[in-house]
Amino acid sequence: MARLEKRVAIVTGAGSGIGEATAEVLARAGASVVVTDINVSAAEQTANVIQQRGQQALALEQDVTSQTQWDSVFAAARDHFGPVSGLVNNAGVSGAGKDRLEEDVGLDAWRSIMSINLDAVHLGCRKAIQEMKVNGGSIVNISSIMGLVGGAGPAYNASKGGVRLLSKSVAVHCGKMGYPIRCNSIHPGYIWTPMVRNIVESLEDVSNEEELHEMLLALHPVGRLGQPSDIANGVSFLLSDESSFVTGSELVIDGGYTSV
Ligand code: NAP
Repeated sequence: MARLEKRVAIVTGAGSGIGEATAEVLARAGASVVVTDINVSAAEQTANVIQQRGQQALALEQDVTSQTQWDSVFAAARDHFGPVSGLVNNAGVSGAGKDRLEEDVGLDAWRSIMSINLDAVHLGCRKAIQEMKVNGGSIVNISSIMGLVGGAGPAYNASKGGVRLLSKSVAVHCGKMGYPIRCNSIHPGYIWTPMVRNIVESLEDVSNEEELHEMLLALHPVGRLGQPSDIANGVSFLLSDESSFVTGSELVIDGGYTSV
């Protein structure tokens, strides 16, 4: 039996990068995947690729900062595939260009990064607990190495550190309440996605993507940057029964970045 057969999983921000790869890996493992993104045509493209392989996917438009859209996404997922058993809170923004120096970051920029990277993860976890507390499930929140150490902008660091502890709080709450729901965070190192490629525009010390790639490569002892599938494979493990004793944990997938 495939690892995620009979599972229904929602992946946010799945029109690009890590979310796109995650949707594909989960579908390949047998899950029915609800592919959501603020950019609905990107979500549809991901879902089309999955469907063309004979696997199950449904594309939906979702702005993760909207409470009402969380309700409609879970309702649509239930109607289409049955009860949801997995949520991957992946959508996020780098804040590049808005969020470099603590002494410069305005409150509007701070709040806009927090609302997508942290508040929305709270909204997703809350809704998932309400929906999964009887039949059970697994929540995976995509944090970052920048939720473990400093080095990005202050709001990005703070939002991702918040995701780390929110995940532990959800895990403890579900355990105490006797809900069969696990919750874990994943902490990727640099993965060569549109989000990372775009930060070149906000950096003064590199002038093009090649220089950025070289600079980042030097920070990863394994000798390469990550692929979106490196993270997707971790998500697949955390959604599956193979990780049934894993909750409140932080899975670091960073090519050794934080070991230096
Ligand atoms: P990406 O390629 O930019 O993909 C993120 C997706 O989320 C995009 O399709 C984006 O749409 C969408 N999105 C943005 N705001 C949204 C909103 N309010 N509601 C719904 N969707 C929204 O980024 P990625 O690199 O795959 O990053 C995915 C996650 O991994 C993020 O949480 C990021 O912080 C985390 N992460 C990434 C890295 C890395 O090195 N790439 C490392 C550590 C952690 P638009 O493009 O239209 O904005």
